[in-house]
Amino acid sequence: MNERRVRVRFAPSPTGPLHIGGVRTALYNYLMAKKSGGDFILRIEDTDQNRFVPGAEQYIIDSLKWVGIEPNEGVGFGDGPHAPYRQSERKPMYRQYAEQLIEAGHAYYAFDTTEDLEAMRERLKSSNIEAKYDAITRSTMINSITLPEDEVKRRLDAGDPYVIRFKLARKDEVKFHDEIRGWVVFNTATMDDKVLLKHDGMPTYHLANVVDDYLMQITHVVRGEEWLPSAPLHVLLYKYLGWEDMMPKFAHLPLLLKPEGAGKLSKRDGDRLGFPVFPLQWQDPETKEISSGYKESGYYKEAVINMLALLGWHPSSNQELFSLDELVDAFTVDKIAKSGAKFDLQKANWFNQHYLRLQTNEQLAASVKPLLDAKDIIVDDAFLATVCGLAKEKVNFVNEIPDYCSYLFADPQNYDEDVRKKRWKAFMPSFCESMITKINALTNYTHTEIEAAFHTTLTEMNLQSKDVLQAFRWALSGVGGGPPIFEMAELLGKESVIKRLEKATTIEVIETV
Ligand code: GLU
Repeated sequence: MNERRVRVRFAPSPTGPLHIGGVRTALYNYLMAKKSGGDFILRIEDTDQNRFVPGAEQYIIDSLKWVGIEPNEGVGFGDGPHAPYRQSERKPMYRQYAEQLIEAGHAYYAFDTTEDLEAMRERLKSSNIEAKYDAITRSTMINSITLPEDEVKRRLDAGDPYVIRFKLARKDEVKFHDEIRGWVVFNTATMDDKVLLKHDGMPTYHLANVVDDYLMQITHVVRGEEWLPSAPLHVLLYKYLGWEDMMPKFAHLPLLLKPEGAGKLSKRDGDRLGFPVFPLQWQDPETKEISSGYKESGYYKEAVINMLALLGWHPSSNQELFSLDELVDAFTVDKIAKSGAKFDLQKANWFNQHYLRLQTNEQLAASVKPLLDAKDIIVDDAFLATVCGLAKEKVNFVNEIPDYCSYLFADPQNYDEDVRKKRWKAFMPSFCESMITKINALTNYTHTEIEAAFHTTLTEMNLQSKDVLQAFRWALSGVGGGPPIFEMAELLGKESVIKRLEKATTIEVIETV
């Protein structure tokens, strides 16, 4: 069995926009497949037609494409040997397995109506017993265990609606090994007789999931922790369908938690704390409400991948920055954590800043240009590339560049009052006047020459750099922080610098200290 080619799958249900937790599940599957030269499959689990949301499937496909973790078989990525990969299109394949389980005594027909089930729930609730269809309650219900054989046949022949339920032992231990959690034991007493095949002949998640994993020769099931309670049923299905030697290994990933730690990360947390929880923009088909995604919020896909990889997995070294290829090399299941992983927005932004700095100035300029166009700011490409080069050390996102550097594209409109009060000292207007004279005299207008003039003025006026530097920057830009000041002055050009310094000399000094 160990020689089986690794085949893993991402099996989302198209019930809404893919959450980054889902992207992380897809990523870990992808890494496992690539690491071992195996296959990564996208299977769409759409058997619950009531929860189907239009557009969700395409959104899943687009999201995987955007982050660059493309399956090599599956919906939207080309058919492989196990097509179709959409469960609704595989409907005729499942019934035979449910019937096989009935034959073997591990499943049964249940004819109960919604009212019957409701009555059972009420009855049990009033006796303070957990209301579930199980080894005890099934004997009080209408099914092929309680009804005589000929009555069952009559009902089936008459086309009475029924479901097929799994028949659980009353008290039995189901033990299986989880690659992350070690040995896990469930007692069937805590479980219920799950429906395997519904009235309309559609399988439920459990039956379809196990049958497809078997037919698609899946070797490892890597999925979120919320599916752990379903795993014992799946293990029993493998056993009773006679597929034990084909049972995949299970790995249930830790939950993605809210930044504060308690509870599962939700879209509401994103809205509350101002970060996206979806990879791409999503428009709710009903409410038309638009939620922005990582892509539209200006994150690089490399940053999203890097951040998600480390939410629940850690490498053997202290390395934090990983390209996708490096992740493929470094990834091992034994380094996936058992406990939930707290989402950390600062860290996500830190990753983004790293990938932003890896862009060339020209690449950044190409991304900033449309943002400037939208504000009717026209700049030369080479100038913009230099601006981006200065800004990239200071911003986390490309879309911060136009505002961060607005004073490089036009004379400052506003001057930060706090800086003025603190730094615009009585000597500053004369300092600026002296700089104007020196800069006017420069034949070679470069940042080194400007810096030299600055130091000469300091010496002449018996001042320290720390007394002047921020005020000088403010005189040129209106703000107290920004890219390296002399490079910035060179970039602005002699004429503009002189004009700005002249204006600054007219700004009144307010002595507050
Ligand atoms: N369809 C399930 C989901 O939506 C898949 C769970 C699994 O991977 O087995 O997450």
